Amino acid sequence: MRRYFHGTLILPDRLLPDHTLLTEDGLILDILPAPPSGVDLIHGHYWSPGWIDIHVHGAAGADYMDGSPAAVRTANRALLRHGATTVFPTTTTGSTAELAALLDAVGQVRRHWSPADGARIPGIHYYGPYFAEDKVGCHSPAGRRDPLPAEYEAFLATGLIRIATCAAELPGAEDFYYAAQSAGCLLTCGHSNATWAEMARAFSAGMRHVDHFWCAMSSVASLRARYGTPMQASMEQFVLAHPDMSTEVIADGCHLSPELLSFAWRMIGPDRLCLVTDANRALDMPPGEYIFGHHLTGAPFTSDGRVGFVPGHGLASSVQGLDHMVRTMHAATAAPLSGIIRMASLTPARLTGLDGSFGSLAPGKRADLLHLTSSLHVAAVYLDGLPAA
Ligand SMILES: [Zn+2]
Ligand SMILES: [Zn+2]
Repeated sequence: MRRYFHGTLILPDRLLPDHTLLTEDGLILDILPAPPSGVDLIHGHYWSPGWIDIHVHGAAGADYMDGSPAAVRTANRALLRHGATTVFPTTTTGSTAELAALLDAVGQVRRHWSPADGARIPGIHYYGPYFAEDKVGCHSPAGRRDPLPAEYEAFLATGLIRIATCAAELPGAEDFYYAAQSAGCLLTCGHSNATWAEMARAFSAGMRHVDHFWCAMSSVASLRARYGTPMQASMEQFVLAHPDMSTEVIADGCHLSPELLSFAWRMIGPDRLCLVTDANRALDMPPGEYIFGHHLTGAPFTSDGRVGFVPGHGLASSVQGLDHMVRTMHAATAAPLSGIIRMASLTPARLTGLDGSFGSLAPGKRADLLHLTSSLHVAAVYLDGLPAA
C-alpha cells in the first residue's frame, strides 16, 4: 500500500519544504515535489528519518542488564516514543553470567521482533565491563575487569555484538580489538585514561570511536596527574587530530555546557559526531533512587528528573530521550537542523554499517519516520511506514 507523507522533509544536507515522501510496503519509494491529486496525505510539520541510539542502558524502570526479554521490551517501547527507531542495547559492568543473560534476552527479542516490541535491535553495544579502574565512573566497580578472552570470544561468537568498547590502556585491549574487529564491530575506547601513545596502538588495532566525549575519558589534566610533566596529549586531542575517529555527545544539557556542545559541532562535525542518550532506567520515571546496571548487583544513583547522579561523586548518565538531545543540541549550536538530525540518524547508521537501509530519507531505505512538531517534539513514530508510537 502506498502512503504519502507531506511536510518539510529533513534530508542529511538540507530541508525540503512542502514535499511528499512516498512509501510502499515499508520502503521509501520516492520524494515528490508535488503529490498526485486525489491521494490521502499524512501531514506533518517535519519528517525526519528514525533515530539510531548507539549508547543506551535502559528506560521506563528497565535496564538491559536486568537480563530479561521483558526488560528489553519495556526499555525499547519507551525509547521508541522518544524517536529512537533503532537502538543498540548497551552493557555495563557485571558478572559473566549477567552479561550472558543480557545477550540471551536481547537475542530472543531480536529474533521474534515486531513493532509492538519497540525500537529495532540491530545488535548489542558491548560497553562494560572492560573499563579502566580509575575511570569506572558511576558503574559498579566489582563488575569491572580487564579483557578476558574466554569471556569475550564466546560473546562475540553469538554474532549479536556490533559495537565493542574497551579502555585502550588495559592489558589485552589490542587482542580484544582484533577479535571484535573480526566479528565486524565498531571498536570504541571508553571509560579510559589512555595516553596518546596508547590511543595510537589501539588505532592500529582498529579502534575508531570514543564513548561520550569529555565524560569518563582522559584529558591533559588527568594524564598530568598520572605521569607528571611534560604534559601529554589525551583522548581528546587524539579524536580532534584524526579524521578517521568518531565520537558521541550526551546532549542533555546537564553533562556538557552549551559551549562544549557547540565546540563539538564546530571541531568534530556531523559526520564524526553522534547524539546518544546514554539513558538509564530512570528515563520516563519520577525522581528518586535507582540502580544502574543489574537490579540486584548494580550501583545506586539518584535521578532528579533531569539527570542521574551519585551525591558527592558526580553524574550517573542521562534520564532523557533522543528528542531531548536533538532539541538541546539545536538550541546550543549554530548547526542547521539537517546536521543535528544527521548526528542522530545517518552518522550512527554509517558507523554501524546500517546506512544501506536506515538513517536517511532516501529511496530504497526502510520507511522508519518521525513526525516532528515545529518545536522538535515527536508527534508520531512510523516503523516500516506504519504508525508505531
Ligand atoms: Zn559511560
Ligand atoms: Zn553509558
